[in-house]
Amino acid sequence: MRDTYQRDINYLRVSVTDRCNLRCVYCMPAEGVKALPHDEILRLEEIETIVRAASLTGVKKIRLTGGEPLVRLGLESLIQRISNIPGIDDLTLTTNALLLPGHASSLKEAGVKRVNISLDTLRTERYREITRGGDLATAWEGINAALDAGMHPVKINTVVMRGFNDDEVVAMARLTLNRPIHVRFIEVMPIGSSNSWTNGRFVPTEEIIAQISSKLGPLLPAKMSSGSGPAKYYQLKGAEGTIGFIASMSEHFCQSCNRLRLTANGALRPCLYDSREVDLKTPLRAGADLKELADLFMDAVALKPDRHHMLEGWRDKSRVMSQIGG
Ligand code: SAM
Repeated sequence: MRDTYQRDINYLRVSVTDRCNLRCVYCMPAEGVKALPHDEILRLEEIETIVRAASLTGVKKIRLTGGEPLVRLGLESLIQRISNIPGIDDLTLTTNALLLPGHASSLKEAGVKRVNISLDTLRTERYREITRGGDLATAWEGINAALDAGMHPVKINTVVMRGFNDDEVVAMARLTLNRPIHVRFIEVMPIGSSNSWTNGRFVPTEEIIAQISSKLGPLLPAKMSSGSGPAKYYQLKGAEGTIGFIASMSEHFCQSCNRLRLTANGALRPCLYDSREVDLKTPLRAGADLKELADLFMDAVALKPDRHHMLEGWRDKSRVMSQIGG
C-alpha cells in the first residue's frame, strides 16, 4: 500500500506486550510505567488476525517488539501462527536478550529468522546502571544463544549517549572484528517516558564515525544481505561483522519510511513520534472481518506524516541543531 508521499508501506512493528524486565534510564522512569490492564492487551489470536489483515494490504515484514517481547507468554506459538500467514516473508524480533538463553532455538524453529539485540554497554556495572538492574553476563549468554541457534544476522543496537557510553563506541565496534556480529549505533531520540533524560545526551553519527575510524581504521561501505532498513552499513578491514549507523535525528530517513506500528493494546500508529492512532481492537472485538481491518490499515497509512518532528519537540533542540549543523 502506498501512502500520500508515495512510500510503499510493507512493514509492521508489533508490540506484543507493554511489560519489560528492564527499566532503561532513557526509556522508562524508575518506577516503571503503569501496566495496561490484562483485558486491554491484544490476545495472541487477535494479533494473528491483525497480521492477516495487514498481509492483505501488502505488509510483508513483521518485527515483534515490546516492552520486552520475550516476557509475553505463548510468544513461540504466536511466531508459528504468523510464520504461516501467506505473504509474510520476514519475521524478526527486537529483544534485550535476557530471556534468549534456553529459548533461541525454539524461537528459530518457530520462525524467527533473525534478532536485533539492544545492548548499550560492555561494562557490567554500567549495564546495571543503564538498565536499572540488568545482568550483562545474561545478555551475553542470550547473544551467544542467538548465534549458536543460527539466527542470521545477529544485530546489536546501541543507543549512544553523551557522558554515558560514548566512550565505548570503539570497543563496541571491535565486536565486529572476529565474530559475525553487526553493531548498529543509534542516535538517542527524545522519546519514551524519560524525554528530559535525553537532554544533553545527544551524540551525532558523524562524531561516532570519526571516533571509530581514527582508532580502528577506515570504515569501508558494506551491504547487509537482509533487513538493511534505515541503517547505513560499513565494515572494518577484514572484519566478520558490519557497523551500521541509524541517524534518526541528524539525517532522518522518513522519506523511505515503510512502517506502521501496532501497540500492545491494539492501535495502529503511523509514526513513532505521532500520537495519532487508529483503533483496531474495538472493531476487531465487535466482529470486524479481515477486509474491514485492512481498510483501517489504509486509514492509518493515510495519517502517515511526511516526516517526524522530534527535534521540534525537544527541549534540547538548539544544542542538538548546533551539533548537527541544522
Ligand atoms: N525490550 C526490547 C529491547 O530492549 O530491544 C524491545 C523494546 S525497546 C523499547 C526497542 C529499542 O528502542 C531498544 O533498542 C531501545 O534501545 C530503543 N530506544 C528506547 N528509547 C530510545 C530513545 N530515547 N532513543 C533511541 N532509542 C531508544
